[in-house]
Amino acid sequence: MSLDDISADISSCTSCSLSGTRTNTVPGEGSPNARMLLIGEAPGRNEDLQGRPFVGRAGKFLDELLQAAGIKRDDVFIANILKCRPPENRNPREDEIRACTPFLDRQIAFIKPRVICPMGNFATSYVLGKFGVEPLPIGRMHGKTYRISNLLLGSAVIIPLYHPASAVYNPEMRNVLIEDFRKINDALGPHEPREKV
Ligand code: URA
Repeated sequence: MSLDDISADISSCTSCSLSGTRTNTVPGEGSPNARMLLIGEAPGRNEDLQGRPFVGRAGKFLDELLQAAGIKRDDVFIANILKCRPPENRNPREDEIRACTPFLDRQIAFIKPRVICPMGNFATSYVLGKFGVEPLPIGRMHGKTYRISNLLLGSAVIIPLYHPASAVYNPEMRNVLIEDFRKINDALGPHEPREKV
């Protein structure tokens, strides 16, 4: 199994009604050897049109955040909780999250990231729930490091973040996100490429 196999399965998925309204699936993109996995909520309009994650306004800000922290977009993997756009960018529904997250689980199992950063409330509650940590509202968890250790990943850390879209029109939030991204860089340690075994 490779990330391409997972993307192929996503592109033919009809498990929920979003398959009827999407233009493209947005499986996620980045390095298969990534030590860091960023997880957003769901594709928006631009992402749906291009089939790529975080290419709209929030994506531009995410690029700035990565750059400010000295992290290359090509070195990380960027995914979403949902792989198809909800109409009018409404919140993901529970049945959609249930139908779609097995794909994210497969991506996590393949990549085995050292640092997982869920962005926003939906991604944070899914990821923390999956690894047995009680989720609190993002305002109480952002920028904190949660260590997990299990058979799937070995030891890894989860650092929840505010969603970059929340900072597009909010300068204070921008500074909080910039500060939190700097902490991630510390958690990543030295930037040597990781060999896949
Ligand atoms: N917001 C998200 O959560 N994901 C994207 O891919 C784009 C915007």
